Amino acid sequence: MNPRRFQRNPRLSHLRCISCSHVLDIGDYPRGCPVCERTQKPSSLEAVYADLPTSLQPSGSGFRWGAWLPYLSGVSLGEGETPCMELPRLAADLGVARLSVKHEGMNPTGSHKDRMSSQGVTRALDAGAQSVVLASSGNAAISAAAYCAAAGLACEAATYQAMPETFVRALQRLGARRVAFDRGADRWEHVRRRVEDDGAFALTNYCLPPVGSPAFGVEGYRAIALECVADGCVPDHVLVPTARGDLLWGIYSGFRDLLAAGLIERLPRLWVVEPFARLAKVLEGAPAQNEFPGTTAQFSIAGGTVTLQQLHAVRSSGGGAAVVDDGQAFRGATRLAQEGLWVELCAGSTVGALTQLLADQRIAPSEHALLILTAKGDRDPFEPAALS
Ligand SMILES: [Zn+2]
Repeated sequence: MNPRRFQRNPRLSHLRCISCSHVLDIGDYPRGCPVCERTQKPSSLEAVYADLPTSLQPSGSGFRWGAWLPYLSGVSLGEGETPCMELPRLAADLGVARLSVKHEGMNPTGSHKDRMSSQGVTRALDAGAQSVVLASSGNAAISAAAYCAAAGLACEAATYQAMPETFVRALQRLGARRVAFDRGADRWEHVRRRVEDDGAFALTNYCLPPVGSPAFGVEGYRAIALECVADGCVPDHVLVPTARGDLLWGIYSGFRDLLAAGLIERLPRLWVVEPFARLAKVLEGAPAQNEFPGTTAQFSIAGGTVTLQQLHAVRSSGGGAAVVDDGQAFRGATRLAQEGLWVELCAGSTVGALTQLLADQRIAPSEHALLILTAKGDRDPFEPAALS
């Protein structure tokens, strides 16, 4: 291995459980915290940095925000630095003082997942892995396939049988192996065997109850908070389409550390946007390890489970959950299209969530909301006639 292919951040000190604060040496723990796993409440680990920058000075080489991430340089296809745009016309329509969007569909493979793939696949190289495996409904699989191709690593994606044809073709072109299953639990069992029996590097969860994706990948989402603040976008609220909360946690972690560094004055409140009640039920008292069955056309945020990382991010920031059904998500995606933004169905759900939160007075008309537009719309298989 050529050591110049990546450079670990010398500030990276250790890993720590986000629930019980158990500390672990730098390493790979795809099942999360071993202490919490023994109590049947699997919990994510996060990276801890010895000291973080005290200014928003981007790095001159490697990853622009590498000083805040596990790796200063590594596998890149030009991810990040996505547009942070103001939508004054939609803000006026919805009745909120300021509305921004972060268009993650502008990443190299069309979704926010490229941030996780960049740091995660770099970690796979550092760990000496020959192959990467993940469970994905679509966006993460294409992203991992592309980054593994760039890194010269084999990639295997455990997907659903019903994966949209556009995704299947993309995986073939990018040289990834696809293994298809009907049930989410079967995908995870396949990933578990690849990791624990064959030594593959896990890019996503494979446990049930689930834990977040491995820390090195999730840390990549921290750059979203840094980019927003560097662009002058310091919102009161951030609305995030969420399945198991990797993106949500990374954004929370980034803003939390910006606050600790004195670079912002308050922590934005984070809101999970989900297609049917999962975290909403946990916030009302249901155990986070329960299963919450439901169906949705918002395939990027489907699935019947929640994770502790999304619960912690929401509680620690004073946010909550908003449930947006497919029809509302479609109307939101259509409204965003009227602003020239072509996004996947679940990204449209953020508009419906903002409408709800304003109506419930959980967001005030005088405030500033940021919508995370998770992916572009060209691969989305939904039938508008069935949703409108
Ligand atoms: Zn723990």
